This record gives sequence, C-alpha cells and structure tokens, in this order.
Amino acid sequence: MNVPEFLIKCLNAQYGEEESNKILTGYAMRRPVTFRVNLLKSSKDEVERQCATLGINIKSAPVPCAYFAENLREREIAEMPLYKEGKIYLQSLSSMLPPYLLAPQRDENILDMTAAPGGKTSLLSALSGGEAFLTACEKDKIRAERLKYNLAKLSVPRTSVLVQDALSLDEFYRFDKILLDAPCSGSGTLTPDGEIKISEKLVENSVKLQEKLLRKSLKLLKKGSVMVYSTCSVLKEENEGVLEKVLKEGDFELLPPEMPFSVPRLKSLKNTLLVPPDGQFEGFFCALIKKN
Ligand code: SAM
Repeated sequence: MNVPEFLIKCLNAQYGEEESNKILTGYAMRRPVTFRVNLLKSSKDEVERQCATLGINIKSAPVPCAYFAENLREREIAEMPLYKEGKIYLQSLSSMLPPYLLAPQRDENILDMTAAPGGKTSLLSALSGGEAFLTACEKDKIRAERLKYNLAKLSVPRTSVLVQDALSLDEFYRFDKILLDAPCSGSGTLTPDGEIKISEKLVENSVKLQEKLLRKSLKLLKKGSVMVYSTCSVLKEENEGVLEKVLKEGDFELLPPEMPFSVPRLKSLKNTLLVPPDGQFEGFFCALIKKN
C-alpha cells in the first residue's frame, strides 16, 4: 500500500512503533462488506429469511442488527430487493458507533450537524424506535439530495433536512442532543485498493473546520445535555487535539464512552474511544461530551 510518508511519520510519533504498526497493518486488511437491517422498515428475521432464500451467506457482526456479507461486493448488495426497498443499508461498522453512543430517546430533539448521506441520521431514528425528532443539516447541495433520498427510502419519520452551513445555524436553537460527525482527513479509512486522498493540507484544514463546528455545536446544545463528536480519522490533532482545545473554553466534560457491545480500542485520551482499523472495523474516533 502507498501510505503517504507524512502519515506514517505522524502515526509513529503519536502512537509509537507497536501501535502505529497495528494501524498500518489494519489499513492493509480487506474488510468484508457490512450492512445493517433498517428496523424502521424490516426485521432481522425478514432479512435473514430473504438472504437464505436467495442463497446469500451472511454472518452476524459485532454491532446489533449488522451483518457481514463475506462473498458479496457492495454493488451486488445494491441489486438486492432488500436494499432497493430500504430494508437494509450499506454501512461500515465504525460508522454505526456514534448513534449508539448518543443513545437517542423518544421525543428528543436531536441535531445531526453534518448529516449526508444519512447513515447515522437513519440509525439515530431507528434506535429511538422512530420516535426522536431529527434535524439533519448538510451544507453540500448534491450530498443533501442524497441525504433526502436516503431518508425517504429508509422511511425515516420526524426528520427535517436543512441544506445550509451548520456554522450559520441560528444560535436561538437549542437541542436535547447533537451528533457532530465531523468532516475529516479520513485517515482511519485507508484501504488496499482505495484512492488515497489524505494530505497534510487536508489534515490542517480539517482541524480548523472541526474546531469551528465543535464550538458551534456546543452553543446549540442545551445545558445538562450530551453530544457526540466523531471522526473517521485516527490522527490525534483531529480528535483529542480538537477536544482539548475547544472543551477548555467552557464548562464541558467527557463522559465514559460506554458501548452496549464490544469494540476494539487503542489507547487514547481518558473517556474517548479510538478504534483501530482491523479486519472488521475502520479506524474511528468517538467522544461523548456533556455541557454543564
Ligand atoms: N454523518 C454522515 C453519515 O453517517 O452518513 C457522514 C458525514 S461526513 C463525515 C461529513 C459531512 O459534512 C459531509 O457530507 C460534508 O459535506 C458535510 N459538511 C462539511 N462542512 C459542513 C458545514 N459547515 N455544515 C454542514 N455540513 C458540512
């Protein structure tokens, strides 16, 4: 794999040889395709039955309602009626983590600040039994169209989409919970065959935007409430660095990121969750923040 030299150096400096080798080995692993059952429209039973009828071999993944489709490509899954009807959604296991950490409940007003294409918005809704009120914000017009399409296809109720820069959201708003799945360098998601887009400039620009978006989301959060900050990066400057800088500007605390299932972890700042890339998970970072 052609991992850029600057990234190898950063990982070595941040994690030491042993852990950075773990990350580099994880990049080179081929992960099976994963999908989750959309509980807003279907059930594990229906999906397992239909896959069995079609002779498709699926295996339960460590995240509830998620499956590995070991012998299929995403393209082949996208041909299945279950997919076309919005009963399953192609999603990496790591991308399913933030909604579980945020634990959405009935009638809560939740902001998904950077939402397209909607994998996490739809899981937030499903985890609340379709009973949370969701506001999904997305700046990019084309990606926002994809978001609307996916939300309609997955029959996600009680959701409104805002096509706008989250940084310009009216500060009059207050939400019970917020998910900030921030735009990032993608340093957790390198794959053996994928195009490698990461650069030092992208990391630098991502950090600047992440800090601004985190400040904004903390303003929009009700006092006493929690939000999740997540990225698909394993670089400390985009994760712990952003948190350490922004959280000291007010009365905020990190709460233990307890997941209702087991997830691989690398050592990281206290009360944060850093998932190394491996044969099942992409590299990912999550933190649960409380506004006091
Ligand atoms: N949470 C999404 C999901 O699980 O499907 C993935 C979100 S992706 C990591 C980040 C998204 O943030 C991109 O769609 C990007 O266009 C959007 N974005 C970037 N800057 C933004 C801003 N200032 N306001 C709103 N959205 C923004």
